[in-house]
Parts: sequence; structure tokens; C-alpha cells
Amino acid sequence: YPACSKLLVLCTLSSGGLVAYSESQTDVSNTSVEINAKDCKKRRVVVLGTGWAGISFLKDVDVSAYDVQVISPRNYFAFTPLLPSVTCGTVEARSIVEPVRNIIKKRNGEIKFFEAECIKIDAANKKILCRSTFDNNLVGNEEFSLEYDYLVIAVGAQVNTFNTPGVVENCHFLKEVEDAQKIRRSVIDCFEKAVLPGLSEEEQRINLHFVIVGGGPTGVEFAAELHDYVQEDLVNLYPTVKDLVKITVIQSGDHILNMFDERISSFAEQKFSRDGIEVQTGCRVISVSDKEITMKLKSKEEICSIPHGLVVWSTGVETRPVVKDFMGQIGQGSRRVLATDEWLRVKGCADVYALGDCATINQRKVMEDIAAIFKAADKDNSGALTVKEFQDVVDDILERYPQVEHYLKSKHLSDVTDLLKDPEGNARDEVDIGGFKLALSHVDSQMKNLPATAQVAAQQGAYLSKCFNHRQQCEDNPEGPRRFKGSGRHQFHPFRYKHLGQFAPLGGEQTAAELPGDWVSIGHSTQWLWYSVYASKQVSWRTRVLVVSDWTRRFIFGRDSSRI
Ligand code: FAD
Repeated sequence: YPACSKLLVLCTLSSGGLVAYSESQTDVSNTSVEINAKDCKKRRVVVLGTGWAGISFLKDVDVSAYDVQVISPRNYFAFTPLLPSVTCGTVEARSIVEPVRNIIKKRNGEIKFFEAECIKIDAANKKILCRSTFDNNLVGNEEFSLEYDYLVIAVGAQVNTFNTPGVVENCHFLKEVEDAQKIRRSVIDCFEKAVLPGLSEEEQRINLHFVIVGGGPTGVEFAAELHDYVQEDLVNLYPTVKDLVKITVIQSGDHILNMFDERISSFAEQKFSRDGIEVQTGCRVISVSDKEITMKLKSKEEICSIPHGLVVWSTGVETRPVVKDFMGQIGQGSRRVLATDEWLRVKGCADVYALGDCATINQRKVMEDIAAIFKAADKDNSGALTVKEFQDVVDDILERYPQVEHYLKSKHLSDVTDLLKDPEGNARDEVDIGGFKLALSHVDSQMKNLPATAQVAAQQGAYLSKCFNHRQQCEDNPEGPRRFKGSGRHQFHPFRYKHLGQFAPLGGEQTAAELPGDWVSIGHSTQWLWYSVYASKQVSWRTRVLVVSDWTRRFIFGRDSSRI
């Protein structure tokens, strides 16, 4: 936004450090410090976002030590794992959201919330510029700026269309609550349109062709939900067109759910094939019009088009513009995602933290350190270590980098322990480090892709609030803690992701789960596990009761197909 012209301060909300500007004012750097006089007792923490990461931070941060302000264009927290259920009315939209003000009320009202979006981060001056998102004619200012001592960026990510022509205009997304509500209405539209008089069977088929682009967890769960909705409810309401409904999942890779264990991926493919859900793998969508989807079959380099009634685009996420702009300012412009270190501090920018889907922990340093540990252990440069030396090195790595443990102890444990044996299975005297490094490089690529999930975001939020809460104690006691004192690395333990498992609901009251320790569980019992976990993970008793009563209502009365 352009440089400052005449700055007009219209009002100040004192301790909040809020400054409102006239419409023509846009330069954050000139915000008056006097009117933003800071409360000397408390340092100001500005949190961007009220999603998994932001709310998890807010739930625990010590409000007696910090003046906390939250900015988000959404005045609620949404339980995203249940969004696919909202698309078909299995649960109601309002059952999975909790107003932010309910959450902050529990913190004695000491957290301030502003419904607006951050449009610019000015890290040099420690300010952010925000714009309210109301599209009505309420009086008041559109833009204001806030100063911070610490900034927590938790703005999540946005849908990635890969600039595919026609996607924005003709596809539904499944990212926000509004998206799910829109899909719910559109599915019913497709059925109502199909049963209008005068349509040919071909036209009815087109209207009832539901296409999902993206065979990841969200796309697959939506396909499964839709299939259940059609088979359990809609076929009874629209009997004349029940045989014309078709659901297609288009996936660019060779398999759906390819981030899950192979057993889950192949079970899902077999189940979908039994259910009549068509899975087209190895296809890249190149454009979408209001009538058809055009795609390229990777194997044959052939282009084909299929007509559709509704398309849901679910192919992944990308960085939001405000974060991209910020990355440009701090020398991360060439990266895809904002990089942080293991303490969630944004690289190259003091007092700014980033967590959740908008950030990634930069593991390069970790891997460099691990390589150095090896080099130091291999004193004679032979490229091999004794088993004892090797195990000491592994212990040392796990001690310093506990976040590697998940990978070493689960999927890739075999990669590592295999190195201790020869091909006949006999214990080796020496371990070839080259092989171990190879195993580690595999670990490295896994670590770089710390998944963009609610689980990671929530754990990061909880971790960061703990660090904030102990900050004063550590400042008062600079000798402290304990574990890294010797290495002089940092006063807090690095963030350690604890993988608690992952679900993939597949419809027909069956769910697949990948549990810690490489356990895989699939079937009806896992569906009950899914119900219990998702009921227990709700942010409040209110939403817990609402969600459970929605599930019960659906069991008894079926889903509501009104188009409201
Ligand atoms: P979000 O939860 O997206 O929150 C971002 C927040 O930032 C929002 O409040 C947003 O309004 C706000 N914001 C956006 N722009 C701005 C701005 N400019 N200024 C200020 N605030 C802003 N994960 C799982 O672990 N398990 C699942 O089963 C699962 N299922 C999913 C199903 C669906 C349909 C979807 C879409 C996601 C699912 N995920 C799941 C992923 C999970 O939702 C995300 O990883 C998680 O939401 C990331 O949390 P976050 O806090 O980083 O971002």
C-alpha cells in the first residue's frame, strides 16, 4: 500500500494500542507511539488468527503477564475435521463453531478481540495494519493499526488452485464453514434440478455427476459423506433419479490417500470401487468450465473432458498474501512457506512467531547438526562406527532433537535398525554411516513435511503459550534451564511434535486410522473410535453436546435435505 499522506488519528482505545485511520491513510510505519502508550507492566502480544493454532495459544497464555489482542476475520473457531459432515447435514454448521468471545470470556475478558483481517505486517516498526471485513454500511473506520512487542502469526493457509483456469469461478472449495454450507445447498440444487420436468436422462445424469478434485483426506472424506447421504437419504426422496447419481474422485497421483499407510490407501480404493465411487488416478485437471472439467491423463498424455453438476476442489493449500508479503520483507521471498526455527521463531525477524498451516519448521539446520555429530563420532574417518558408537550417536541425536524421534521410532525404525544387521540378519560389528545417512535423508524429507494438520497447529499453539508463560522466569534466571544450558542453544526445549494418529472416514460407518507406532485400524470399531475422539476434542461442552446430538438425530431421523 502506498506511502503515508496525511495521517488522521480518529480514535484510540488506550491500552489496546488501537489507532484508527481515515480511509486514505495506509502507512503503518507512522503510527503515533504516544497515543499507543504501552502499559509498562505488560508486554503486548498480538495474535493473528482464531483457528487451531491461535485458539490453542490463547487458551493457555498467561493474561496476567501479557496484554493480548487477537485479530481475525472470523469471530469463531471452527472444528475443521467435521466440515465434510456439514456438507451433507450430518452435523449442523453451528454445532462445530465456538464464538471467540465465549472462549476469551473464560480468560476473564482480558484478551481483546477485533474482527478484522491483517493486511500488512510491518516487522521493522513492530506494527500491523488491519482492515475490518464488514460489507455493510455500518459507520466507523475500515482500517487501523496495532503495535506489538510479540507477534504470533497463525493465519492458516488458503486453497491452492494452482492457477488452473475456471477453478475459482466454477468450483466449490471445502476450507471454511461457509464453503461447507454452500456445498450442502448446491447438492440439493443438483437433485431438485434433475427432477424438474422436461430434462432428458442425459441432462439428469450431468446434474447428478459430483466430481471431487483431489484424493487427499478431505476429498476422500467428502466423497464418502456424499455417498452415504445419497444412499441413506436422497435415494428415498428422489427415487426417479436414484440410478443416475455418480461420484467421481480425480487424483493426480497413483493412489488416493497416498499420505496414509498403503493398507489404508488400498482399502479405501477397494471400498470406493464396491460403493460405485469412481476413482480416476493419474489425471491432472487443466481447466474447469461451468459445464465440464478438462484433464490430462498423465500416462497417455491424452486430454479428455467430463461434464459435471458440481465440482469440489480439494487439492491442497498455499500461503496467504499477507504472509507472502511479509516473507518478501524478511528475505524469505523465494520460499513457499514461512520458515521458523524449532522454537517457532520466524527466521530473520525478532519477536515474531509463526505456527500452524502458515509456517514450517526449517529443518536444514537440524540435519546439518546431525551430520556434524556423525562427523565428530567418526574420528578415524573410516565411514563406519562400532555398534556402541552408533547407538550413542543415535541417543545423542534423540536427546538434542527429540522431534526426530517420531520418525526414527515409527516408520523408519526399520531403516535404522536394519543397519545394525547384515543381510543374513546377524548383528554387525560396525555400522556403515553412509547407509545411516541415507536413512536419515529419508527422515529429513519427512520432517520437512510436518503435516499441515490441526494436530500440529494445536500442539504448536500449546507449546508456544508455555514458552511465553515461562519467559519471565527464564529472563529472571538467565542461567536456566537445564537441558540446553551446556550447549547454550536456547532457554526452552524445541517444539516436539507428538503424532497421535490420523483418521480417514470412508463412509458406511467405517473409518481407517493410522495410529502411533505404525498401527493401522480399519472398520466399524474404528468409526466408534472416531466418534469418541472427535466428541472429546471439541473445544467446549456446548459444541460437544451439539455435535453428539446431531449424530443422534441423524441416526434416528436421517439428514435434513431442506435447501435453506
Ligand atoms: P486455521 O485453522 O485455518 O486458522 C486460521 C485463522 O486465521 C482463521 O481464524 C482465519 O480466519 C484467520 N485469518 C486468515 N487470514 C487472516 C488475516 N489476514 N488476518 C488475521 N487472521 C486471519 N487436520 C487434522 O489434524 N485432522 C483432520 O481431520 C482435519 N480435517 C480437515 C478437514 C477439512 C475440510 C479441512 C479444510 C482441514 C482439515 N484439517 C484437519 C486441517 C486443519 O484444519 C488445519 O491444519 C488447521 O486448521 C490449521 O490450523 P491453523 O490455526 O494454522 O489455521
